[in-house]
Amino acid sequence: MELEFLGVRGSMPVSGTDRNKYGGHTLCACLMNSEKEWIIIDAGTGLKKLGERLQSQSGEKPLNIHILLTHFHLDHITGLPFFAPLYFSNATINFYAPTSSDETEKYLGGIMAGRYFPLDLKETPSKKTFTKIPEKKFAIGSVEISHCALNHPQGSVSYRLEENGKATVYATDTEHPEEGIDRNLVSFAMKADILIYDAMFTPEEYESGRKGWGHSTWLEGTKIARAADVRTLYLSHFNPDHSDKQIDKIISLAQEKFAHTFGAKEGHKAIL
Ligand SMILES: [Zn+2]
Ligand SMILES: [Zn+2]
Repeated sequence: MELEFLGVRGSMPVSGTDRNKYGGHTLCACLMNSEKEWIIIDAGTGLKKLGERLQSQSGEKPLNIHILLTHFHLDHITGLPFFAPLYFSNATINFYAPTSSDETEKYLGGIMAGRYFPLDLKETPSKKTFTKIPEKKFAIGSVEISHCALNHPQGSVSYRLEENGKATVYATDTEHPEEGIDRNLVSFAMKADILIYDAMFTPEEYESGRKGWGHSTWLEGTKIARAADVRTLYLSHFNPDHSDKQIDKIISLAQEKFAHTFGAKEGHKAIL
């Protein structure tokens, strides 16, 4: 399994020479299963780049794409109207979310409805399906997928993707409990090869007025990584206010607590 980060910024996209190392696009990651189908997690602005790649690669071949949505906050869905395959008549885009199929269609369609976009989601040429993720594990080709609820305003989920005994756990947009650590997430992430975790705030920022905002810190990420005995921790969902230099500092502090920590970077591929 090869996982690629396409967007690692939380809240809103950013640009600037001091934001290039980790990148300015909002949340999106992708992997291809052994049936050569794309499985995408979240549809933030990072999704656009993958669309461009698919446009140049696909030609006349039909495309079958799967998009797992963690929740509907804008930083996780605003790339969708700019995703080229949405406009391909030979593409099928399968959306999966914790909400009912009608709700998912309504929430995604909402950002393209009325005065927000020139074209409604329903009018785009691709075929679309909307599926509520089942309580139990399900599979997309050779990849088995499970989910667990996270602590976030209006709710969010973490996804665990497993193929050939290798597991990736994607857990952005979560706030750690007031005391102790999120035991549900620890057992969900147990022995994963990769854990991607919410590093929106430094512990100092979190303590000074960000409690209840639904996000976590690098320090909590290292605690989960240790308790769950994961192989590699990728910190992500970086704060738009944090420069590359500040993120470098965050990563080096985290490495003191959990040595195999990296900062997720746009374009970085993690091979499992
Ligand atoms: Zn977010
Ligand atoms: Zn969110």
